[in-house]
Amino acid sequence: MSVVRSYNHYIDGGPKKSLGQGVIARHSSAHGGHLADYAAGNQHDVDAAVAAARSAFNGEWGNSTGERRATILNRFADLLEANVEKLATIEAEEVGKPIRFARGEVMGAANLTRFAAALAWQLSGEAFTHLGPDKLGLVTREPCGVVGLITPWNFPLLTLFQKLPYALAAGCTVVLKPSEFTSGTSLEVAALATQAGVPAGVINVVTGTGDAVGSAIVAHPDVDLISFTGSTRVGKQILRAAADTVKKVALELGGKGANIVFADADIEAALDGVLLGFTFNQGQLCVAGSRLLVESSIAAAFVEQLAARAGRLRIGLPLNEDTDIASLIHQGHVESLVRHVKTAQEEGATLVAGGKRLGGEFENGFYMAPTVMTDVRPDMRLFRDEVFGPVLSVTTFDTADEAVSLANDTEYGLANGVWTKDIDKALTVSRCLRSGTVFVNTYLEGAPQMPLGGFKQSGLGRENGLEGLHEYTELKSTVIKTGSRAPVLGHTM
Ligand code: NAD
Repeated sequence: MSVVRSYNHYIDGGPKKSLGQGVIARHSSAHGGHLADYAAGNQHDVDAAVAAARSAFNGEWGNSTGERRATILNRFADLLEANVEKLATIEAEEVGKPIRFARGEVMGAANLTRFAAALAWQLSGEAFTHLGPDKLGLVTREPCGVVGLITPWNFPLLTLFQKLPYALAAGCTVVLKPSEFTSGTSLEVAALATQAGVPAGVINVVTGTGDAVGSAIVAHPDVDLISFTGSTRVGKQILRAAADTVKKVALELGGKGANIVFADADIEAALDGVLLGFTFNQGQLCVAGSRLLVESSIAAAFVEQLAARAGRLRIGLPLNEDTDIASLIHQGHVESLVRHVKTAQEEGATLVAGGKRLGGEFENGFYMAPTVMTDVRPDMRLFRDEVFGPVLSVTTFDTADEAVSLANDTEYGLANGVWTKDIDKALTVSRCLRSGTVFVNTYLEGAPQMPLGGFKQSGLGRENGLEGLHEYTELKSTVIKTGSRAPVLGHTM
């Protein structure tokens, strides 16, 4: 058994002992071994972190040039890449995800950091020169100030790097609270940022629970913006709590994506995409395609082939190179998935594959095989709830209108997929889907320059792209009186 990693908070440029009591122990969800201990922070730790962040903001960082911030961010990206094995191993162990995909997450984080570095050079505003002969209007973007970042456990690095480099590029300073299940990589990258030249106090990490640390950050009067990724339930609590101090709030919340497969699709590609959409990261994915909507004429054959492919995925330990599916985040989660399957059966759904917690060689972990359920109607909980595991609900349709109306019949609006070789149908259906992302003949692809975010109850605001930078800025209008004499065209003063 490897050594248990033991972490303090990271405040003002280095590890800081907690002012709170106790530790949070993280045990592997794959084999039960003790992986790490984090400090259980409290309000006093948050106060110290916010004070450090405010002082760094008022000092050098808030006034630094875009060029300087870009240079440091590029060094930070280099260090993320240089530490890919260490970071990926921690991420794989703490989340319970296959190491191959954890490596991809680290490289994705480095990519996002380079993209944000490029944006730091370009922060600019507007000048209005036609307000009258004696007036000039300037619209400038200023950093928001101290921002609170709160992140979930499913993609600790990726969700963090859809926020952190943009906040830094804008000139903000940060107080971060990672998930209490997976805080390791957030603490490691804070130390790498210091190594890259990020000044003390610019990135502060306070570990602990949402109730003790997360809510203290949200309520803090000296925090200017909260950027949260997590469940819609907690997002709503944060929105309400932020009202007391009228903070800006950006929310990346849950989803219930549909993959719509028409009979004229490339069936092989669609099978791959649908499988990926509900099994990647053990289905613990905000943009999961957890509902399959399939045209009636091909439904039976499609589901049969899909179940066969799902059965061939390799289930294993997170650190095994050939593992496709590893463990779910904790015991309560796997139990809730099994309950969802049972409820769906009681409501009339048919279990085609999976459906049970795995025992045998996996009995010390929280494993579930890919699960496919047919005969799912829109009134069932499986169709409506964000189940957040490798569980696919299957519903059939006969027309494109019916497919769109089924896909949109959810309170969420994060991502959907469309599979057809008919370009007119693909574009028309994409336009009608009420979600921030639509994948056409592919699933889960993206790029740092493309904004990510939700319609409806999937969130507020956008991450990535230029919009992802602008989230961390405030606009200021400055009206300048330039003198009372009107210039006379064609004459010198
Ligand atoms: P969660 O909402 O339970 O927790 C998210 C974070 O909020 C954690 O750090 C938690 O400690 C903290 N928190 C909990 N209560 C809080 C409170 N009252 N005040 C402040 N902070 C609090 O979510 P989770 O279970 O960690 O993650 C899974 C959820 O995240 C899913 O719903 C998933 O869809 C969503 N998610 C969304 C995106 C996206 O980009 N839209 C990405 C990843 C995950």
